[in-house]
Amino acid sequence: MASSKKPVRPHTLATLVLHAGEAPHAAGDPVVPPLVQSVNYVQEPGSDNLMYTRYGNTPNADRIQKRIAALEGAEQALMLSSGMAATACGLLALLRPGDHLLASQYIYGGTHRLLTEEFTQMGIDVTLVDPFEPRAWRRRLRKETRAIFIESPVNPTCRVLDMRGVSLLTKELGIALVVDSTFASPVNFRPIEHGADVVIHSATKFLNGHHDVLGGVVCGTVPYIDEVRQKEIVWGQTPDPFACWLLERGLKTLDVRVQRQNESAAEIATWLEGRKEVRRCHYPGLESHPDHAVAVDQLDGFGGMVAFELAGGARSADRFAKRIKLIRYAASLGGVDTLVSEPRFSSHARMSSDERARIGIPDGFIRLSVGLEGVTDIIADLEQALR
Ligand SMILES: *Cc1c(COP(=O)(O)O)cnc(C)c1O
Repeated sequence: MASSKKPVRPHTLATLVLHAGEAPHAAGDPVVPPLVQSVNYVQEPGSDNLMYTRYGNTPNADRIQKRIAALEGAEQALMLSSGMAATACGLLALLRPGDHLLASQYIYGGTHRLLTEEFTQMGIDVTLVDPFEPRAWRRRLRKETRAIFIESPVNPTCRVLDMRGVSLLTKELGIALVVDSTFASPVNFRPIEHGADVVIHSATKFLNGHHDVLGGVVCGTVPYIDEVRQKEIVWGQTPDPFACWLLERGLKTLDVRVQRQNESAAEIATWLEGRKEVRRCHYPGLESHPDHAVAVDQLDGFGGMVAFELAGGARSADRFAKRIKLIRYAASLGGVDTLVSEPRFSSHARMSSDERARIGIPDGFIRLSVGLEGVTDIIADLEQALR
């Protein structure tokens, strides 16, 4: 794919995930940095240089934060206790009561609740927008609008939002463009290169990639991250050192994992598209995908997430879910194990079947998070479950 737009960086991403932010090493240093499982640190009497785990400034947090900032091309990053903690503190650092937030209507279920229930109660007005409508953002602007929040690629339809119009608009108005980039990971998409001000990840997904750490990150400028840190500190959303250490371990293989997931997902999507049991397959790498051109232009890889609609609807989905053997039926995504889930029982369970069908998620819709098993084994399992 187009590599001409790649910025000049001191190292490739494959190297940055291993070494960015590292201190110079000396003989006798451990190759793997230690886990410092201490909450507090001895202080110089009278100094205000307080190191405390909840402040997010202890050794394991510091290392992972520098590394993730380098991956996203951000001035600074902050690790929090979950993706939701990152979204909540990241947005609360930008918004005050009386402010207005424009958000894409295609966002993670937890984020949807945060914006429409919690933020509304705090006096922050939120308007949900269909980002694929022409002039969608400009038409809903108010003089109180402080930020635009989007998620791309979108769960579960894998739609890809075009960053051009929206980033020009936020620049023109001097408001913040916040992007939840969980589905892409910095291997496939780095929103700051496309005009975003803030990047959020659920590190629980691709960044860690092993289904064993809950975490989130926020990336942005130094003064902004200072604000987010104040929210993290008072709301108590800081991760434990062990979570930071595990994320550092998981992150080392991010590049190889995501490259492999990209390749396997593309092969699986093409295979699914040719099956008579499948009415439609959603994958940005397929020419049939509505955002294929945007994806080719903006992304460095089409990702490890695939979705497909079974021609037989809910009954076929019930049967498929019972028959899969290698693939597991579980929530979450972006890890080494291939998983499937169904929006009708997870992210979109609160809607009726008809409402879901209207927004393009009919019953029989399966979301597949492609893991690292051999692609022929994944396809064989899909085939025996579909037959
Ligand atoms: C999972 C997810 C979140 C929430 O992350 P947690 O780590 O579960 O709190 C936010 N956004 C997206 C796109 C996600 O997939």
